[in-house]
Amino acid sequence: MRFTNEQFFSTKHHSMSGQDKHGGQQQRTEISSLGEFGLIDRLAEGFTPHLASTIKGIGDDAAVLSCGKGDVMVVTTDLLAEGIHFDLMYTPLKHLGYKAVVVNLSDVCAMNATPTQITVSVALSNRFSVEAVEELYAGIRAACDHYGADLVGGDTCSSRQGLVISITAMGRARRQEVVYRSGARPGDIICVTGDLGAAYLGLQLLEREKQVYLSDPNVKPDLEEQNYLIGRQLKPEARLDMVQLFAKNSILPTSMIDISDGLASDLFHICRQSGVGAFIEESGVPIHPDAQFMAIKFNLDPITCALSGGEDYELLFTIDPKDVEKIKYLPDIYIAGEITPPEDGIKLHTKGGNIHDIKAQGWLHFPPQ
Ligand code: ADP
Ligand code: MG
Repeated sequence: MRFTNEQFFSTKHHSMSGQDKHGGQQQRTEISSLGEFGLIDRLAEGFTPHLASTIKGIGDDAAVLSCGKGDVMVVTTDLLAEGIHFDLMYTPLKHLGYKAVVVNLSDVCAMNATPTQITVSVALSNRFSVEAVEELYAGIRAACDHYGADLVGGDTCSSRQGLVISITAMGRARRQEVVYRSGARPGDIICVTGDLGAAYLGLQLLEREKQVYLSDPNVKPDLEEQNYLIGRQLKPEARLDMVQLFAKNSILPTSMIDISDGLASDLFHICRQSGVGAFIEESGVPIHPDAQFMAIKFNLDPITCALSGGEDYELLFTIDPKDVEKIKYLPDIYIAGEITPPEDGIKLHTKGGNIHDIKAQGWLHFPPQ
């Protein structure tokens, strides 16, 4: 049924003030009580795709759309808001532009697809000069050049406060090569690329130096020794090299997701959508020595940083056990555990020999006020 404007905008059902037009109290649910994923689930209700060309709608790293002849297009979008996702006190605009593209391309790669085009929309306050926006776009261009994607459009508007960047990325794949979050089966081997936790520790360092600077602008920031951690936070990369490596070695993961919210949270998505459990070996979770060192300096457990830190943009994927020989000797891929039946839950086997439940903490996008 089509809504008339009158029905659609009726304040009776959609009061912004929390009151209906007769002045009665309406139910008001805080977004923080649902959390990011609960909110998305709720918003997505009733948006079941109707078109045959929508192969996969909401719920994965990217949507999958048919474009004929066995080829598909994957589409993903991410929004970065100043003060929520980035702090311009320590984020150079060029890095921000680069990262804003990378976080989207990472979702394309997580579908086992190759990025092709992006669109970029920005909302700018009058704090930004033309030169500043050009700096942002120099980063966007560097990412486009590096990943071979074309910038094909976008939108520009003004903002009352702060900078908002929204990027949509498209990619292509053969339909039978697309990898979803939902394909993991008990017995599959869990793999992780690169290393985890470093971007989170880079952020902690930048935050610490920001506080030092705010209390005394004459103190020089002490970041010199930590190029790796800072680089992982400010200039992450999408693992397109892994998508290419899989193709070259005839590997088709059974499930895959990019690690943007921490291993725990992203493993939880795979388990939920595949209807399985997981067993992670702490000794199998790759952590860079600099991250190990800095975690301990910050009084944090390195494995906690790997599980619950965010923004590593590595890939978490599962493979059929018969493919283990194929990945065993490939660079930068680590075996971290095994998929188990759903009733086994999601567990961590620590180096000390204990078994813990893994909680899907991840980033709190909507912290309670
Ligand atoms: P990722 O961390 O990989 O970017 P998200 O957790 O942001 O993924 O999103 C998960 C799924 O929910 C994706 O399919 C995404 O397109 C969809 N999604 C997120 N926010 C919204 C929204 N406001 N409306 C509709 N779909 C959304
Ligand atoms: Mg993702």
